[in-house]
Amino acid sequence: MRVTIQFLLIWALVLPASELIAGPRQSLVPGGIALIELDRSDKTPHFYFKGKPVLVATLDDKFVAIVGLPLNLKPGEYHISGHWGNEKALQKKFFSVVGKEYTTQYINIEDDRKVNPYASDMARIWAEQKRQRKAKSHYSDTPVDVNFIQPTQGILTGSFGRRRIFNGEARRPHSGMDIAADQGVPVLSPADGKVVELGDFFFSGNLVYVHHGQGVTSLFAHMSEINVELGQAVKKGQLIGKVGATGRVTGPHLHWSLGLNGAWIDPALFLP
Ligand SMILES: [Zn+2]
Repeated sequence: MRVTIQFLLIWALVLPASELIAGPRQSLVPGGIALIELDRSDKTPHFYFKGKPVLVATLDDKFVAIVGLPLNLKPGEYHISGHWGNEKALQKKFFSVVGKEYTTQYINIEDDRKVNPYASDMARIWAEQKRQRKAKSHYSDTPVDVNFIQPTQGILTGSFGRRRIFNGEARRPHSGMDIAADQGVPVLSPADGKVVELGDFFFSGNLVYVHHGQGVTSLFAHMSEINVELGQAVKKGQLIGKVGATGRVTGPHLHWSLGLNGAWIDPALFLP
């Protein structure tokens, strides 16, 4: 009898959080998210995936770790580990990831320099990549309201994760969501946050990075204009910029990337 009770107790603690009603939807594939219910505690959670702190949010009155799964993650067994507050006891929570075949997209870019940059473009591109890595890895303990809104009105193209061939050349997979909209349509912050990077970048055009807290970061790219300043605090629904066609594009649209613990994940998982 005692054995049965212990078994039930352990099972209850690792019950998957996939049946939650509110908030992000679990998708245990590369480019998806794992939702892992944590024990209740009044202390600050410190949980990590591959050495990076993960988001812990309150969903349906439960503490849930929301773990970003990188697009290059191999299928298999993984875990997060961590502890509460200053407690020494380390907890491990396990989950499995299955493979996903993303389709291939062939894109023709009129300005071939955006696909095969000149040697003289490379110093700029490297400097911008360094700034983007820094912006993406920004971290603060600020709690995150994970009930995001769609940042611009338009057609969701569902192209996250697609392998891409630009003008016949293989390039990195598509790490965000493209929303097709007319030039000048407002781009709104999907959640509260702080502007941690902005500028006119070679590939991304006019871009803005907003850090929402706990390693959750949005990137908005290809805008026609930017309506925020570096370091500015923004509220959910606040104007960030306008839809445009700057950088490496075929036409006006908003590119929105959403990063969790350093991994770009499908932003659609965070929308109602
Ligand atoms: Zn895009």
